[in-house]
Amino acid sequence: MTRARTSAATLIAPEPPLAAAQRVLEQVFGYRAFRSHQSAIVESLIEGRDVLALMPTGGGKSLCYQIPALVRPGTGIVVSPLIALMQDQVDALKLAGVRAAFLNSTQGFAEQTEIAGRLRSGGLDLLYVAPERLVQERTLDLLAASQISLFAIDEAHCVSQWGHDFRPEYRQLKCLAERFPGVPRIALTATADERTREEIAAELQLGSAARYVASFDRPNIRYRIAEIGSMGGREQLWRFIEAEHPGEAGIIYCLSRKGVEETAAWLSSKGRPALPYHAGLPPAERAATQARFLAEDGLVIAATVAFGMGIDKPDVRFVAHLNLPKSIEGYYQETGRAGRDGEPADAWMAYGLQDIIQQRQWIAQSDGAEAYKRVQREKLDRLIGLAEMPGCRRQALLAYFGEARPEPCGNCDNCLEPPKTVDGTELARMALSAVYRTGQRFGVAHLVDVLTGKSSDKSRQFGHDKLTVWGIGRDTDAAIWRGLVRQLAAAGHLTGDEEGHGGLVLTDRARPLLRGEETFMMRAAPAKISRDDRSGRVRRERAGSSLTTAIAAADQPLFDALKRWRHETAAGAKLPPYVVCHDRTLAELAALKPQTLADLNTITGLGTSKIARYGKAIIDTITGHKPHPMLNNRLSATVNATLRLHLDGLDATAIGERRNLELSTVYGHFAEAIAAGLLSSDDILDLDAGDLDAIHAAFEETGALESGRLGPAHSALNGQFDYGVLKCLLADLS
Ligand code: ADP
Ligand code: ZN
Repeated sequence: MTRARTSAATLIAPEPPLAAAQRVLEQVFGYRAFRSHQSAIVESLIEGRDVLALMPTGGGKSLCYQIPALVRPGTGIVVSPLIALMQDQVDALKLAGVRAAFLNSTQGFAEQTEIAGRLRSGGLDLLYVAPERLVQERTLDLLAASQISLFAIDEAHCVSQWGHDFRPEYRQLKCLAERFPGVPRIALTATADERTREEIAAELQLGSAARYVASFDRPNIRYRIAEIGSMGGREQLWRFIEAEHPGEAGIIYCLSRKGVEETAAWLSSKGRPALPYHAGLPPAERAATQARFLAEDGLVIAATVAFGMGIDKPDVRFVAHLNLPKSIEGYYQETGRAGRDGEPADAWMAYGLQDIIQQRQWIAQSDGAEAYKRVQREKLDRLIGLAEMPGCRRQALLAYFGEARPEPCGNCDNCLEPPKTVDGTELARMALSAVYRTGQRFGVAHLVDVLTGKSSDKSRQFGHDKLTVWGIGRDTDAAIWRGLVRQLAAAGHLTGDEEGHGGLVLTDRARPLLRGEETFMMRAAPAKISRDDRSGRVRRERAGSSLTTAIAAADQPLFDALKRWRHETAAGAKLPPYVVCHDRTLAELAALKPQTLADLNTITGLGTSKIARYGKAIIDTITGHKPHPMLNNRLSATVNATLRLHLDGLDATAIGERRNLELSTVYGHFAEAIAAGLLSSDDILDLDAGDLDAIHAAFEETGALESGRLGPAHSALNGQFDYGVLKCLLADLS
């Protein structure tokens, strides 16, 4: 890294530390500005002070020590517990032109000797070492014989005996303070709690280190929690990922192995590459799945919680939960695997009454002591509270972890589309009475039948159609009843029967409500549009905030072409694609379309070394890319997705099936393209002359051309033609 050498040398001349750091940031990493805390941490280390840094995942911890290591003379030693992560980091640094290496047990003797030689002779900027290796006497001797710029202790919470990741060797790292008193040390972790922090400071002798505690917010993650509606959670999930994350990597968490396997198979059957991952699969298969997830661009993994530890893939664009997790801690940790690269990502969850009942039952039936069960119940209730709340989810999440946030975030479903609450006391009392009168042994489906007076074999068999509650809720939609019953269960008024037959029972908490001593505020489903469709509605408001939707429709084909280039380049070099460059870099390239090597300097993530290595191939990809003229338009991404399939030769029916859209929606997209002059109705409709005449006559008769209204023409034609078809023809005429 010759540049870093010069910058180190220029430090002797009075160049302020931050100026040198800024230069490395731009030239080596291709970034313009430091993020909050980074510059202060970098400055402290360059000046030789110790640091304790707490930053969330994706906060940018690595640069905090990589840049000082490049600015200060000597080699920076990075202690990192996971060998797989070392490999990625070192590969990425090498591409950026940094002289980086790692030392661990996977290497042969000759390789280790070579690296030791480079360290001693000053030929390394950064050296990654596993903790057990570092604390060996021969390694410490080697370091003593070399010039060391700093020690970075990553994942420093591994020092904590109380945490899940305790590594005894981490405790021995305190010897670094004694053996290398003049070398600054930085400990970094994403674990927030007070006790761990103090333990790190004490165990690593960092009592007087400068402390930096960043907010644990993950602002790029959009939290969305939907109720499972009539179409079913899986279908809702499909709509979400198909509309918002086509071709992007994601993780879907399910509670059971069966759920995992079914979800993966189901997505695959829809043409979306997806693999299952759970502890019951053979280790070789699990390893292969994990390797594919890292190496491929758009793979989806359906997994139990077993998946995710040690997965540092930065471009996971969504994490979905098809079941309620067990606690807010679990939810935050799992959703935290999305968007480590800081780019927009989604945390999406669908849950229903069944989840609540089942989780409670599991806790009740578990063998644990009563005190343990109580803690589990409380944790679950806090999570259910988060799912049901009408306010800002991010505020609630951060508050749970002890961080106050004065303003709602504007980037969660409730902020984007505040749910209304209405007084549901009357309805709640009707529902609870129905539970009581039917003997507290039936599930939600039958209760809703009773409330709405819908006859069935069951209602006749049990004489429920003779009860006073029969049909008392006729005026209210079945969907609203189902939502209300779930909310009553969430609030603890109802619970599952002990035998686990799926019957609902009243709890003590229901009494004051039944007696009219309490009110019950319920979240109202938005008028007409059921909450199943919320994902679609939120999407429209979010346009421009997700990476995919932020890419203008016209730039999408170039973005895809750049992704293909990245994929081939990465495969050729046996590297994961994100090590070659991040999505943000490709998105900027697709939008700005630089034409010369010099233009590449302004693109995020491209430093001098990467430009030298890849610049020409990138420019060739951009200049050689000729998008199909039909896709060069200003229409929305969903219309363009339909148009791409049309160009692939699919007809409207096939497109509808592939994209899971109503036929009339597909025709609606075509109509937009026709109105924009990109298509003509003959390209997509297969109507004979007689039909066309009839339709044109109907348009004329009903004044459709002038009014733009299709209803009258549709009736005049006796509903023989889909609205969408009429829309396309009208678009052609106007
Ligand atoms: P952490 O280790 O804290 O989870 P990383 O160090 O891996 O986070 O950084 C997360 C992402 O943010 C990486 O993609 C990194 O390249 C990027 N990043 C870090 N700092 C900056 C910055 N100042 N400007 C732009 N991107 C940055
Ligand atoms: Zn919010």
